[in-house]
Amino acid sequence: MQIIKAPYILTPDKIIKDSQIAFEKRVVEIGKNLEEKYPKATVTEYKECAVMPGFCNPHLHLEFSANRATLSYGDFLIWLRSVIAHRESLVPKCDRECLQNSVKEIIKSGTTTIGAISSFGEDLETLVRAPLNVAYFSEIIGSNPAAADVLYSDFLERFYRAKKYESERFKSCVAVHSPYSVHYILAKKALEVAKKHDALTSTHFMESRAEREWLDRGEGDFKDFFKEFLNQSAPANRPMEFLQLFEGLKTLFVHAVWANEEELEIISRQKAFVIHCPVSNRLLGNGVLDLDRLKRFDIPYSLATDGLSSNYSLNMFEELKAALFIHPQKPIVPFAKELIVKSTSFATDMGFNSGILKEGMDADMQVVEIPQDLSVEEEIYLHIILHTTRPKSVYLKGVKYE
Ligand SMILES: [Zn+2]
Repeated sequence: MQIIKAPYILTPDKIIKDSQIAFEKRVVEIGKNLEEKYPKATVTEYKECAVMPGFCNPHLHLEFSANRATLSYGDFLIWLRSVIAHRESLVPKCDRECLQNSVKEIIKSGTTTIGAISSFGEDLETLVRAPLNVAYFSEIIGSNPAAADVLYSDFLERFYRAKKYESERFKSCVAVHSPYSVHYILAKKALEVAKKHDALTSTHFMESRAEREWLDRGEGDFKDFFKEFLNQSAPANRPMEFLQLFEGLKTLFVHAVWANEEELEIISRQKAFVIHCPVSNRLLGNGVLDLDRLKRFDIPYSLATDGLSSNYSLNMFEELKAALFIHPQKPIVPFAKELIVKSTSFATDMGFNSGILKEGMDADMQVVEIPQDLSVEEEIYLHIILHTTRPKSVYLKGVKYE
């Protein structure tokens, strides 16, 4: 048994002052005078700190972690063309050591749960061995019906290979790349596998203006792109039909910046989530997600970094800072709290016993320093975002990460 004493414990939505948290693998109790109750426990005191749950980063692409400045930013199609031009050199460049270093950075920056989109299965072993919670999304992509059988069997092989490693902290999940890049039948078949195994699903949806124009009218920047690369003249899916494929599943719709009201209606009805990646959206010129509109449709959202293919960092503190500044109309104090609460407790929404500090939940926690001159208690969330680049300590299932 261990006990941490700290001036603040954020559960995350409640602030508990001058208290203690007793834990083994899971949280045993939060309260006062726990040292007397558990005299054999090892006690650690963190002065001027807050203990809070680790972050959940539900959407990243670890296999692209070698990118720093290879890919071009500013416009979605320019970026996509640069991905196609460089992916064959970029992916092998992120070898075992690069993957392990990325995971280490993720944990050191306070994240204890991730949703990893895997295009090739190269990151499987690293993530099976890593001590954090992993929703491992084997991704299917391909709009050419002639290649569908090969692509589907490759996807199945990766999904079931990951499935063998399932545990309370590792789940084999299904990602359908996007409505513009996956043939309807292929998406349908992959999602039937997800249904059969009650697996979490994820898809990039309505990320760019180009995607909107292409799927609605077969026009826009994607028109030349598909002609050039795939000799394809019509979109692979109609957006509404594509969305209906996710009926009955638990889905993370990633980006949704360009989703229309009809589509949000369906996402809401499916009780699905929208994953907001503000830095990636900014870098690829995709605009800003309307969070108030999501609220009107009663759609829950959380934040993610996306991969290093469209971000400079996998650190959630960076993402939260970006979110604060990219939504200037949001009242900053309650919005900062909303960001921290969502980006920690989303681990629970993803089906892990993590993301909230209370009795029985896994002791996946981070300890962050609090400015000594904090004078208004409810501003603690804002100051954590503003003043933290990395937590002081991270605990995974009760074990301090060194
Ligand atoms: Zn992505």
